[in-house]
Amino acid sequence: MSDFDFDLFVIGAGSGGVRASRIAASHGAKVAVAEEFRVGGTCVIRGCVPKKLLVYGSHFAEDLADAKRFGWDTTGATFDWPTLRNNVAAEVDRLEGLYGQTLDNNKVTLFQQRATIAGPNLIRLADGQTVTAGTILIATGATPLIPADVPGAELGISSNEVFHLDQLPKRVVIAGAGYIANEFAGIFNELGVEVMLGTRADKMLRSYDQELVEKLVGMSREKGIDIQFNFGFKSVAKQANGPLLIDGGDKGMVETDLLMWAIGRVPNTKGLGLEEVGVTVAADGSIPVDDYNQTNVPGIYAVGDVTNRVQLTPVAIREGHAFADTVFGGKPRTIDYGSIPTAVFANPPLAGVGITEEEAKASGVEYAVYKSDFRAMKNVLAGRNERALYKMIVDAKTDKVLGLHLLGPDSAEILQAAAIAVKAGLAKAQFDDTVALHPSMAEELVLMK
Ligand code: NDP
Repeated sequence: MSDFDFDLFVIGAGSGGVRASRIAASHGAKVAVAEEFRVGGTCVIRGCVPKKLLVYGSHFAEDLADAKRFGWDTTGATFDWPTLRNNVAAEVDRLEGLYGQTLDNNKVTLFQQRATIAGPNLIRLADGQTVTAGTILIATGATPLIPADVPGAELGISSNEVFHLDQLPKRVVIAGAGYIANEFAGIFNELGVEVMLGTRADKMLRSYDQELVEKLVGMSREKGIDIQFNFGFKSVAKQANGPLLIDGGDKGMVETDLLMWAIGRVPNTKGLGLEEVGVTVAADGSIPVDDYNQTNVPGIYAVGDVTNRVQLTPVAIREGHAFADTVFGGKPRTIDYGSIPTAVFANPPLAGVGITEEEAKASGVEYAVYKSDFRAMKNVLAGRNERALYKMIVDAKTDKVLGLHLLGPDSAEILQAAAIAVKAGLAKAQFDDTVALHPSMAEELVLMK
């Protein structure tokens, strides 16, 4: 028996924290977790899950328009935002319940309040009680960045609030051009909202292959999304008659009904008591950890977005799992961060794994590029002039597939399967050896010439 109240105290019941709690408990540890908001964390409560459901919900606009060519009369179809919003919220509630049950089933004690670190083995809860723990895991995630230097920035919302809008605005300006900005530009656009996306630079989605990104920009514009590069957000003001007025610097003044900040997420480390116990916090607010997720203070660990390594749920889950196996399961494990498949659920989605052409060029490797630019069969019959682009980066010497990038319908679904082959280091010839599954979009992967 340890002298502590708990073997492990986890701060934050999101993707990383819940997985770490569950696995540590299954290894026999006495575990507690504190959550100040809702069990499930950003991904389940106000991120990946409700976002994806909104992507589905909004895409019916195009599907219904296309339906006519397939013989369906959809006259009179209407959209009701509160129905979608409430159904999504109900699904989030259900999932939150399941996450709570998982903790319960594994005998993890849940404190539904804020916890901070008061000493190397001491946790202080918001209600004043203190508990002791042999090991502390910080899994507090990240929070949307709202610029401190833009007067009136607080008049905008972030992805935290976007799922709860009373009604859809007529016009929205989205600041930023990363994952969240592009995903919500697609959602709002499909739902009939006038969208302007403004970003500070002349490029976007820099970690993706820029040829596909440029194509996505073209497609988004075609769908009516106004994308403004080099857009400066100088100030935001509320006008007497209601709408917001944004000073876009050289781009002039823009009036909008809703402003949404999507300019990145910052690690949640403020006020956690880290400095007091000597845990190093980097300039960007993140907690540096070693390969085994340990901070510079022995016994204090961190996983997930708060460490700002790769801000993705599946990565946080793996880190939480590896941490628990290492510290409580006697199986030291590290995470392989190579070839992580990712997708931007824009309309259409953009997905990629491995290196981009830009990265291949910069690395000096001799490479070949294979592409397939095609119109999905469904789009052909629908009369929708929207083409998909698949691109493969191959090592010219070894024939190994170094990167795979897809833009088009269902590209995230297709890429997850193909990513297994890329991760396994297969060669282009092995893709080609595989018989095409016809008719499908994915068959383009084995037919690239
Ligand atoms: P991203 O990092 O994707 O994009 C940030 C955007 O904001 C970029 O366009 C960036 O421009 C711009 N930007 C950054 N800092 C500033 C600043 N100080 N002022 C103005 N603009 C700025 O962030 P998101 O908020 O979209 O998402 C946060 C993270 O969450 C993502 O990085 C991703 O890891 C994760 N996420 C993943 C999703 C998925 O897997 N589908 C979905 C949503 C989020 P520039 O390019 O010039 O730096």
